[in-house]
Amino acid sequence: MKVLVANLGSTSFKYRLFEMGEGVECQLAEGGYERVTDYGEVIRDALASLAEQGLATEEEIGAVGFKTVLGRGLSGCVEAGEDVLEALEGFAEVAPAHNPAYAAGIRQFGQILPGARRVALFETAFYQWVPEAGCRYAVPRAWCEAGIRRYGFHGASHKFVAERSAELLDREDVAGIVRELYMNGPVDVAKPLRVLSCHLGGSSSVTGIRNGVAVGTSMGFSPQSGLPQNNRVGDLDSGAIPYASKVLGLSLDEVERQLTRESGLLGVSGVGNDMRDVRAAAVGGNAEAQLAVELFVREVRRWASSFLFELGGLEGLVFTAGIGENNPWLREAVCAGLEEFGIVLDDERNENVRGEEGEIGAPGGSVRIFVVPANEELVLAREVYRKVSSLN
Ligand code: AMP
Repeated sequence: MKVLVANLGSTSFKYRLFEMGEGVECQLAEGGYERVTDYGEVIRDALASLAEQGLATEEEIGAVGFKTVLGRGLSGCVEAGEDVLEALEGFAEVAPAHNPAYAAGIRQFGQILPGARRVALFETAFYQWVPEAGCRYAVPRAWCEAGIRRYGFHGASHKFVAERSAELLDREDVAGIVRELYMNGPVDVAKPLRVLSCHLGGSSSVTGIRNGVAVGTSMGFSPQSGLPQNNRVGDLDSGAIPYASKVLGLSLDEVERQLTRESGLLGVSGVGNDMRDVRAAAVGGNAEAQLAVELFVREVRRWASSFLFELGGLEGLVFTAGIGENNPWLREAVCAGLEEFGIVLDDERNENVRGEEGEIGAPGGSVRIFVVPANEELVLAREVYRKVSSLN
């Protein structure tokens, strides 16, 4: 089956085409458009290009997958019909760069490819089984009823880590559970497998995973939470918002703008929002950049350690996404001084693994440590294929 994965931003449309089947997983094409004003136009153009290259006619595309961020009252891997559109629009304010774009794209694909199944994989899906106490904020019930709770994001990436780490740790039983998670839900296993997944990139989160199922994650109600992000704040005391508004004379909109565009690595370092630039400035002696790096590492460690008690032990630690995959110095800083917990890097292995899969832990450590490159589009293609196979 040919599966088209559509990635929609407020002014962008990117796509990848996969051939998926039993034992078949192959990316056939990728492409994209920037400064998009009319999604219908670029979708038609992309489809014409795929047909011209002989890769897929419109009739051959069996399904289109959407990596939707979050929906009001809806999560999981689901057919993208009216209920998904309503859920996306219900939370348009929480994910303004993505939800309206996905709603528009899903509608357009419905008109342009009426024969293809549309499937949404919510970024919140991986956290469906986090216990209520791990999702509920200590706010009045009315806030909770308005949908204010911890949802978590980067679900596709952390699910990929859950599956791949189980394979790397020779736990095919758990890998199988992860593959079928959205179909069958969690399954008990006799011997636990506990993994910490550190998705560190332009946007970052840490997730604790037991037997392939998330026990909690650093991101909360919106992607403005958890670790400091490239230009977004991460965790912030809620008391700071009314105080900043009064003392700095900022409107609520301006507070939001500064917290979502001028904070995070950029805000602290004053150098930029790319870890490469921040690190280079830090190495060059820039004190603010040094502080930004230190703060980021500290927050990764704080969140990672918060799941250790919950998991009650650890077999695997995984680094993924742009920062986690490419920066041995960062992995070294995160793992520093944790020998007593069985977390010991092998300096040479760590130094040599950049942007590729590899084991970086020392042979003596009880926790196996890996780099696993993120591949969210493949996760989408897999989940969409599974979903459509179960529907047909
Ligand atoms: P992502 O959001 O996963 O694409 O990650 C983006 C972040 O990864 C940026 O902050 C970059 O600094 C970092 N990054 C990406 N590629 C590299 C690289 N080759 N070396 C060092 N850092 C990188």
